[in-house]
Amino acid sequence: MSERFTSDYLVVGAGAMGMAFTDVLLTETEATITIVDRHARPGGHWNDSYPFVRLHQPSSFYGVNSRKLGSDTKDRVGWNSGLYELASGTEVVTYFEQVMDQQFLPSGRVRYLPMSEYLGDGLVRGLTSDQETIVESRKTVDSTYMNVTVPSVTPPSYEVTGGVRCVPPNQLPEVAEAPDGYLIVGGGKTAIDSCLWLLSNNVDPEEIRWVVPRDQWMLDRAHIQPGPEFAVQVMLRQAETMEIAANSSSLDQMFDRLVERGVLLRLDAAVRPTMFRCCTVTQLELDQLRRIRNVVRSGHVKKIGLNRIDLDEDTITTSPNTVHVDCTADGLARRPIRPIFEENHLTLQTVRSCQQVFSAAFIAHVEAAYEDEATKNDLCTVVSHPDDTLDWVRTTVENALNSIKWNGDPGLKAWLSEARLDGFSRLRGVSERTPEQDQLLTRIIEATPRALQKLSKYLDEGRRAN
Ligand SMILES: Cc1cc2nc3c(=O)[nH]c(=O)nc-3n(C[C@H](O)[C@H](O)[C@H](O)COP(=O)(O)OP(=O)(O)OC[C@H]3O[C@@H](n4cnc5c(N)ncnc54)[C@H](O)[C@@H]3O)c2cc1C
Repeated sequence: MSERFTSDYLVVGAGAMGMAFTDVLLTETEATITIVDRHARPGGHWNDSYPFVRLHQPSSFYGVNSRKLGSDTKDRVGWNSGLYELASGTEVVTYFEQVMDQQFLPSGRVRYLPMSEYLGDGLVRGLTSDQETIVESRKTVDSTYMNVTVPSVTPPSYEVTGGVRCVPPNQLPEVAEAPDGYLIVGGGKTAIDSCLWLLSNNVDPEEIRWVVPRDQWMLDRAHIQPGPEFAVQVMLRQAETMEIAANSSSLDQMFDRLVERGVLLRLDAAVRPTMFRCCTVTQLELDQLRRIRNVVRSGHVKKIGLNRIDLDEDTITTSPNTVHVDCTADGLARRPIRPIFEENHLTLQTVRSCQQVFSAAFIAHVEAAYEDEATKNDLCTVVSHPDDTLDWVRTTVENALNSIKWNGDPGLKAWLSEARLDGFSRLRGVSERTPEQDQLLTRIIEATPRALQKLSKYLDEGRRAN
């Protein structure tokens, strides 16, 4: 069976990026759009997430630009207390489903093909039937390039002997009887979520061992808050970040100062992290994580056997009744940078680090508002995912350069100040600033050029050394 139809745009992937892109295109153009996805529901990897997953950033600047996510309330209980709400995975998926069912489809301009595999050249094959569809489009938009993987659909990258209890975090809530202990594999945010979930369910920290191949620099979520009551705090951090960078005498000294001022956090004061992947935590979460004393820093796991675990640099014991939680899937894979706009093909990537939905919406606006490809690519300089310490430096420079460029374009500046998904530009909105905020803005503006000079120097030195 085959069908053929035409559409202005063919968007491959109904994950958060495909949805955020489509939303802006629908709002700002008259285009028709076909969206294809393997999943049965929009929301991409959020459909496969562990049940206790939540956004790592406030809901208020996640999702699609045209529709609010959550109710802008602050948590009153738990380890995010006092800060703006973080949507759960279920909320995120429900939200995207509502966007599709209540906005996209009723517009009459969107055709949605769930449970469908895109095979290239406009060819789509149904997964539950032998339906083939040819979509003839002016442009194809690849929203799958970032290649997000999550543990439930990604087998561990190490060997696991038969009989070992090795599960993705999705299966943690299924544990019905206390095991010998828990071993968390991975040093990223999923591992942090799993540790915190165990602790919140009364597991004794002594029962948790945590394999951390690389410690990471983390961001304090208190400094990534949208409400006006946080504006001074957030702007102060931005000013201090730029001033510390500008006045620093070496890379290490700068990171020490950033930790002192609370711009960056780390698990253990005695360990200098080597990884940076935009992980956010609260001080309360960090206090909890520090209760886990058995942190194994001996490299990556190579093999989990019934009674022993081989790591890069050591061997440790385990038991058949230990629950090993695999948190090693790469949600933030480093992909080679591609031009975003190439004739009739768009490849969605991040233009502000770790802000996928903002980036997709911004790219759609540029697609709608600008004509020539060179200008569009110039406005959408990719800021690829960070991974190590030097990437904090790189992304700080690249984010700042993009911001300076965007704010130099009056149309873009106006768009950003209204964009729900831009959690940062709105803070600088002219109408609402207090004198204190004005002073902070002046500090940011004054320190930024010197900071960028210093950071670029560290970047060059670091790249030469690697
Ligand atoms: C635990 C966790 C928490 C996170 N928290 C935040 C946060 O707080 N804030 C934030 O900004 N980001 C967060 N992220 C990052 C998150 O990955 C992005 O926000 C966003 O969800 C990525 O969406 P995506 O569309 O790029 O990818 P995906 O969700 O992977 O969507 C891609 C879609 O493409 C489909 N697809 C792929 N190939 C094909 C094909 N050939 N044919 C048909 N369909 C195809 C897939 O089925 C999938 O549905 C988090 C990530 C994780 C893992």
